[in-house]
Amino acid sequence: MTDLIVSVSGLRGIFGESLNPEIALKYSAAFGHMIKGGAVVVGRDSRVSGQALKYAVISGLISTGCDVIDLGITPTPTVQIMTEQLGAAGGIEITASHNPAMWNGLKFMSPDGLFIEGDVIEKLKQLADSGKFSYSGYMNIGKLKENVTAVDVHISKVLAIPYIDKGKIQKRNFKVVVDPVNGAGAVIMPELLRKLGCEVVLINGEPDGHFAHEPEPLPENLRALSGEVVKNKADIGIAVDPDADRCAIVDEKGNPIGEENTLAIAVKMILSRKKGKVTVNVSTSMAIDDIAGACGCEVVRTKVGEINVASEMKKNASVIGGEGNGGVILPDVHLGRDAPVASALALQYLVESGKTLSENMKKMPAYFMVKRKKAVSGFDPAAVLSRLKGLLKTEDVDETDGLKIIRKKSWVQVRASNTEPIIRIYSEAQSREEAVKLQNEISGKIEELI
Ligand code: MG
Repeated sequence: MTDLIVSVSGLRGIFGESLNPEIALKYSAAFGHMIKGGAVVVGRDSRVSGQALKYAVISGLISTGCDVIDLGITPTPTVQIMTEQLGAAGGIEITASHNPAMWNGLKFMSPDGLFIEGDVIEKLKQLADSGKFSYSGYMNIGKLKENVTAVDVHISKVLAIPYIDKGKIQKRNFKVVVDPVNGAGAVIMPELLRKLGCEVVLINGEPDGHFAHEPEPLPENLRALSGEVVKNKADIGIAVDPDADRCAIVDEKGNPIGEENTLAIAVKMILSRKKGKVTVNVSTSMAIDDIAGACGCEVVRTKVGEINVASEMKKNASVIGGEGNGGVILPDVHLGRDAPVASALALQYLVESGKTLSENMKKMPAYFMVKRKKAVSGFDPAAVLSRLKGLLKTEDVDETDGLKIIRKKSWVQVRASNTEPIIRIYSEAQSREEAVKLQNEISGKIEELI
């Protein structure tokens, strides 16, 4: 049985095992108690367990004196935008992001639409577990309202990005295949793309939570999308994860360009128009350093997790940032990963280049990343990492998040996942062979240490 995971990415568990309405209720009531009332924006992705958790969340919030603004099925970035826009005291998205269908969870937001920080999550956990939160008297129970315009607000904000030339994109009449994996992206992606003049071919477009494939938008999960792009002679294929904060792209030949390149394209597009700092997490491709370096811009790296990147971006006033897993953060819209934003920037990039996506990709810095995961069972990841560190005395090691061994034009990183009971081992080099070699070297060491 899996444990409930509480991290900077919020709360995640398997419904009926480590997560149930009682847990959602106690965390939401603790959240309501902590923020001392006010409005809370609530949305959910399309997961089958979403409805059951939603009523628990609403109950927890209104019983602690919060007014709830229910957005229904909406992406995480939409809830973030509305939390800020409506001047709410907080926001909650019911989602397990890219995790498989049996998972669900809660992402909590501050009034500025950013996720709550790690120490606040920790306080929330303690309060929820201790039960030391109090319910309001019956006269002070909050009100429940619905809001059905949130997606339109989000779309308008994307179309208003100063670097997006809507008219030019519309003129190109792109043919786009979209795969929202029957998640919350289905309620926004087709409409946004149609507003950008695209001919949209939608696959897995029912937001019913029955994910047609593994929902993480990794190349191996995009076969149907690739096939449809080729069959329909489309210009681009776009996949988003169930809560539509991550975006992966397939070129016109049906080849997934790799989710690292979603951010690379966005950074290249933005820096061509506005110079400034770029903030990414430590697991993100070196391509970002090359692209920013060519523009004379600085790259700042943070721990993995959206809030870590977003809060650093706020501090250092970055012009663009995000996470290499397909999470693009553009402060002009809001400080959170946003797949609709990533898609619009990719189309703008295509329009400006006047070339096909595959031609454009030839000009991108060529790196190969290998991402592996190992289930955590019967060992303590922290202890293994500390023993591994002991073996790396002669190496250049970055400890921003786990252990990242940096060599010349290559690196390998080992860290415990924030969202699943796994350790992630990422490596990147200038050839696939070298990236695999690095993986094998470190994986071998880890196996010996377990
Ligand atoms: Mg997500």
